[in-house]
Amino acid sequence: MATFESLKWLTRFLEETPGDSEVGGKSRQVPNACWSRVKPSPPPSPELRMWSDEMGLKLGLERPDGRVLGGEMVTAGMDPYSQRYGGHQFGSWANQLGDGRAITLGELQLEDEVVELQLKGAGHTPYSRFADGKAVLRSSLREFLCSEAMQHLGVPTTRALSLVTTGEQVVRDVLYNGNPAPEDGAVVCRVAPSFLRFGSYQIHTANGDHETLQALVSHTLRHHFPNHSAEDDGSRVRWLSHIAEQTAVMISHWMRVGFVHGVMNTDNMSIHGLTIDYGPYGWLEDYNPGWTPNTTDAGRSRYCYGQQPQIGAWNVARLLEAMVPLMDDPELLHDVLEAYTVKFAQLHNTMWANKLGFRNWIEDDEALVRDLNALLQRVETDMTIFFRLLSSIETPSIELLEDAFYDPLTIPKDAWGEWLLRWWERTGQSPNRQTMLENNPKYVLRNWMAQLAIDAAEEGDFSVAEELHTLLKDPYSEQPQFEAMWFQKRPEWARHRVGCSMLSCSS
Ligand code: AMP
Ligand code: MG
Repeated sequence: MATFESLKWLTRFLEETPGDSEVGGKSRQVPNACWSRVKPSPPPSPELRMWSDEMGLKLGLERPDGRVLGGEMVTAGMDPYSQRYGGHQFGSWANQLGDGRAITLGELQLEDEVVELQLKGAGHTPYSRFADGKAVLRSSLREFLCSEAMQHLGVPTTRALSLVTTGEQVVRDVLYNGNPAPEDGAVVCRVAPSFLRFGSYQIHTANGDHETLQALVSHTLRHHFPNHSAEDDGSRVRWLSHIAEQTAVMISHWMRVGFVHGVMNTDNMSIHGLTIDYGPYGWLEDYNPGWTPNTTDAGRSRYCYGQQPQIGAWNVARLLEAMVPLMDDPELLHDVLEAYTVKFAQLHNTMWANKLGFRNWIEDDEALVRDLNALLQRVETDMTIFFRLLSSIETPSIELLEDAFYDPLTIPKDAWGEWLLRWWERTGQSPNRQTMLENNPKYVLRNWMAQLAIDAAEEGDFSVAEELHTLLKDPYSEQPQFEAMWFQKRPEWARHRVGCSMLSCSS
């Protein structure tokens, strides 16, 4: 097993893209740069609390103590920096944002890939603006558990390696209503091929810095898209279409498992089509496409579940605008948007076919899916339980699905009876159960589940977090030992509890 020093560290990003000449974490504007060198702030008493064995194995690391992964120590080979990027937040251009509380330790050469190791919550950077660069246990645990859950659900995501508590108190006003309170600080170490976002490119075009844009694009293609090039408009369109399609793949998975990202700003859109920046995300409990977990977005619900595919297209359009300076004929970029739309439509049909156990997709299925969507919204119905039970019922009878409904007395039984019969006939009275069980998870990280893990962790007890970590590594299996506790509709106490029904960006 390796130590941090003995790993093979690279500095490709720092060598190949323009950076900040100033070093250190003082808030500032950093024109014409992709990064700033900054060291993590040492925490008072770092303690490793959560560890991904799987990720550790991949890196060749055994469970360490909390010193390096909490930001106390930088070892030989690391050259820490924060990335500069911009972004559209809730539809408006925000210009420089950047890693306000993320510090990359370095890039790691593994056997057949290179990954970036990044600490989230390890202190002030030039991009922290008025904030502290720290993260609290609550949000760090949510990121750790959710990225593990997503990975095992088969949803493209950045990974988590570890969670370290810092021993420091961090003050947060959870609901932005003038009630700041101290919370435990924590640092998550996360891992991805890179943390490049749509906003990483946008910032340079927005400021007319085509040279830096070009350098960043060359770096990106060389290392992350070696099968693509930018030598002519045709190859640029093919490269960007690939990114657009990967984005569509990611979002179609979100729709399949009922995940709502909550803050689909362009600075939170990975160039690799990975789910990134877990904040006020949530999972549909009752099937309500208009639902968003993010209180900051409650008024407009721009990022609600049902809007995610359209927002994906909007965000791809912003990436394309950023690439206009590379193009001889920018009009050709419309093809990329078309590629997104076509790909998403295909994936969407396949997704429904898989969820409903069809062996193919036919035109007429659209009506069946539309009617199902309407029915699921008639009375409060749990998405996950509904599809999971549907995956194994032996006869098309609504009684067998009763557990998915919050109030069995209000179930529109006639309408359901009719729909179930249509579905049953469509499947030739033999739905493809294997496919259904592989596409309709039994266990997802419902907000109240994460909250129970947080409540215990804040008392120093990580056993609930560990149990969820174990449970969510196998979300399509029955795991009967966990059923009574975790295969459940949202309990009544969670309906209006902060952290369960409402989340803010404060983390
Ligand atoms: P988000 O949309 O939550 O990913 O964050 C938007 C911007 O705010 C990013 O530039 C973050 O780095 C920054 N940010 C969020 N929280 C903090 C914090 N506690 N300290 C410094 N910057 C932060
Ligand atoms: Mg972000």
